[in-house]
Amino acid sequence: MSIVTVAGVEVDTRHWIGGERIASADTFEDVSPLDGTVIADVSRGGRAEVDAAVAAAVAAFPAWARTSVDERAAVLHRVADGIEARIEDLAQVETRDNGSLLRSHRRGVMPRVAMNIRFFADHLRTLAHPDFDTRGHRNHVTWDPAGVTAIVTPWNAPLMLATWRIGPALAAGNTVVAKPPEWAPLTASLFADIAHEAGLPAGVFNVVQGLGVEAGAPLVAHPDVRRVCFTGSVPTSVRIGEAAARNTTPVSFELGGKSPLLVFDDADLDLAVDLAVEQFDNSGQVCLAAVRMLVQDGIYDEFRSRFLARAAEVTQGDSRDESVDLGPLVSRAHLDRVDGFVKRAVADGAQVILGGGPNDELNAATGGFYYRPTVFEGVGPEQEITCQEVFGPVLTLQRFSTEDDGVAMANDTEYGLAATIVTGSQERAERVSSRVRAGTVWVNCFFVRDLSAPFGGSGRSGIGREGGTWSFDFYCDVKNTVFAPRGWN
Ligand code: NAD
Repeated sequence: MSIVTVAGVEVDTRHWIGGERIASADTFEDVSPLDGTVIADVSRGGRAEVDAAVAAAVAAFPAWARTSVDERAAVLHRVADGIEARIEDLAQVETRDNGSLLRSHRRGVMPRVAMNIRFFADHLRTLAHPDFDTRGHRNHVTWDPAGVTAIVTPWNAPLMLATWRIGPALAAGNTVVAKPPEWAPLTASLFADIAHEAGLPAGVFNVVQGLGVEAGAPLVAHPDVRRVCFTGSVPTSVRIGEAAARNTTPVSFELGGKSPLLVFDDADLDLAVDLAVEQFDNSGQVCLAAVRMLVQDGIYDEFRSRFLARAAEVTQGDSRDESVDLGPLVSRAHLDRVDGFVKRAVADGAQVILGGGPNDELNAATGGFYYRPTVFEGVGPEQEITCQEVFGPVLTLQRFSTEDDGVAMANDTEYGLAATIVTGSQERAERVSSRVRAGTVWVNCFFVRDLSAPFGGSGRSGIGREGGTWSFDFYCDVKNTVFAPRGWN
């Protein structure tokens, strides 16, 4: 069946190519992490579907690229209106599909999805670089549409992460082929419906459903693709980078992290504990999560006891229940992966001071994939649990003595996505923030994000920056035209 009803909402499980629904002969199962039931059989695309989608995007590009900035903005604002009108549908389907909290989808994530489209439609109008002179010649900088853009995204915030790239790509005048995550593919299909109803021309936005190696790989390797935007894990980025390099296709990579929460002696302890407990949000399936808690000697014991007391109060259950703090992990395979990290850490000598395994009672009662909030102490710098991204509700707690030690521990990672600093001293905040290696540093706050700010990772957390003008620098061919100092006929 190509149309299924999920959480009371009709969703088409076929691809969206050139303004038409196209089915594949094969399908893959989409399983809800809330209860382990199959909620959809989704078209399983491969090279043929990718070729068709890229061809549709190539054909649609010249006309879309020629539309004025105002025309494009008008269509994109209608798309954003359509998203706002369907926030409840999108939230319900996403929660059923990836297991994240319904209340977050309703109040934070889906409004941000609309904003992703609206913001970049408007920001395009503000792009300007002042003309400048070279020996009487006038230099004039423009942002030209680049062509077909491949957008490959993960499941932890599927529609939010996809539209954050779809917004600027379409606003720039590019056409898009999106490959949604196989563990949460449904809201991309609803987005295609919304964009179509808003008047986005056929072929400008396309969706190919499928598995990473079958649909993602031929897409990022396609010679007619002009930009590859990938959000996901480091190992996958290596394969995608190799494929894109063969065509000299520019890539934007937003990858994993192992970010620190640096708490100094002079910190507001209530705030530090609040920020630490927040790291369990979305069951730790957040690239930016500050999963390494580094706490200075003088307040370590106090922080430890208050944090553990608060963490023990975190409630776990059905993500549709507004009173629940923590839902399931996205899949059985991911639960097993997270549990593997935990088991190996225990074998490695790390001490579990909270949780330490799946929530067996809840899993038995629901059929879902719930994992208990877990905290390790007594971990060393070389251990897997302090070095590798787990992407689950698993934190480590370590102590440090001097500011230099704290900074050194914060930077002792191959990642560099974000860092959070908690301190009462402005001088220290300025000093430490300038020394930590991270694309985003939060001081006495967490997850404050502005679409006009640069976002991206240092080290192995990514390549490039997106947000505001940085997005258009990537999605466009930035051009400099030099006018000679002569009169015109
Ligand atoms: P993943 O790398 O396994 O998959 C991401 C996407 O890539 C999926 O759509 C998948 O189908 C596709 N894919 C897999 N193999 C491919 C291939 N060979 N060619 C092309 N596409 C392929 O990642 P995941 O498990 O879905 O997501 C979790 C990861 O994403 C974590 O590392 C997390 O930190 C990261 N993430 C980063 C950000 C950020 O902004 N930095 C945001 C969210 C998630």
